[in-house]
Amino acid sequence: MRLTKVLGWPLVLLSFSMVVGCPGAGESTDEDSSVSEVRREIILQFTRQGRLTPDIRGELLSLTSANGLRQYAQKQDEAYLESLPVDGRLCMQMLEKVVGIGPRFSGSEGMLAQQQLLQDYFESHGGAVEYQRFKARNPISKQGVETVDMANMIVRWFPEKKRRIVLCAHYDTRPFPDNDPDPTLRKAEFVGANDGGSGVAVLCALAKEVAKLDSKLGIDMVLFDGEELVYNSARDPFFLGSTHFAEQYATSRHDYQYVAGILLDMVADADLQIYQEINSRRLAPRIVQQVWSIAKRLGVAEFRANARHEVRDDHLPLNQIAKIPTIDLIDFDYPSPQKRETYWHTTQDTVDKCSAISMAHVGWVVLEWIKSQN
Ligand SMILES: [Zn+2]
Repeated sequence: MRLTKVLGWPLVLLSFSMVVGCPGAGESTDEDSSVSEVRREIILQFTRQGRLTPDIRGELLSLTSANGLRQYAQKQDEAYLESLPVDGRLCMQMLEKVVGIGPRFSGSEGMLAQQQLLQDYFESHGGAVEYQRFKARNPISKQGVETVDMANMIVRWFPEKKRRIVLCAHYDTRPFPDNDPDPTLRKAEFVGANDGGSGVAVLCALAKEVAKLDSKLGIDMVLFDGEELVYNSARDPFFLGSTHFAEQYATSRHDYQYVAGILLDMVADADLQIYQEINSRRLAPRIVQQVWSIAKRLGVAEFRANARHEVRDDHLPLNQIAKIPTIDLIDFDYPSPQKRETYWHTTQDTVDKCSAISMAHVGWVVLEWIKSQN
């Protein structure tokens, strides 16, 4: 995707982290500063995730070793994951599998391997998989005539239903980590854990839940190819797969109608903060409002009810060409608005930066939204 605008640094977050920062300061002045730091990080993480109860806080303040704190947090994480309606561990397993393939840019061996993996996965859960194939000009073609074989993957659930929703993500990865701070790594491997893997992983876990629904609406999961078959951002076109999908929908005859859509992109960050994306607010305000009110009801605190980024992404062709009101759930601050560094399009976009709880939270909000559409 491409970023077109960023609003100012959120002061509310800075003041918020000051409130939760330095817990226990004054109580344990002789404590090793690394222990305080570990505790502070854990408390901040639990607060961001909306699950810092007084009991947990009390326990964290009473523990006096970094190891003890980490072990306690890990046990809490495991119990918490168990309690969530979307399986965060499954998200993480699927993320590890697709990232384990390596680069998955359009037309690559890795993309073919990923398609086989996902087709097997979705079919084993009862989804009907089809490919929407097309060719695109290869941006690095010397003569300008070579093409790349592209394929959107469409997984249909309840295919007989005429009113349908779209849940989508791009499943290609950028060819190179060309935003890496180290110029010598800009031609290295890019595995796209958060950018390319995370949306796929959440849809995989949602597939298990969707299959169990008694849904009045049909659901199509669409994995877009060619979101960024981009070697040069100023030259090469983005959104090839979503544009093709939208054009096919707009120009071909079909006996079903898409009533709404949600795009997932970069939703696995361990420091997840999903602001309302500005184009989504403009093009599909009703869905933004529905999704954020669900997140609030569930206590999924990573959904922040204000705007921050204006992002050009696969939701634009869906809104503008296919006329399907579609929002983009995206955490563009990777890792965090408080940090100047970014893992976006770098060799640092790896699985260890991602969180099972983040993905499970996003999946949970989307699942509740699907149920609310019935
Ligand atoms: Zn990207």
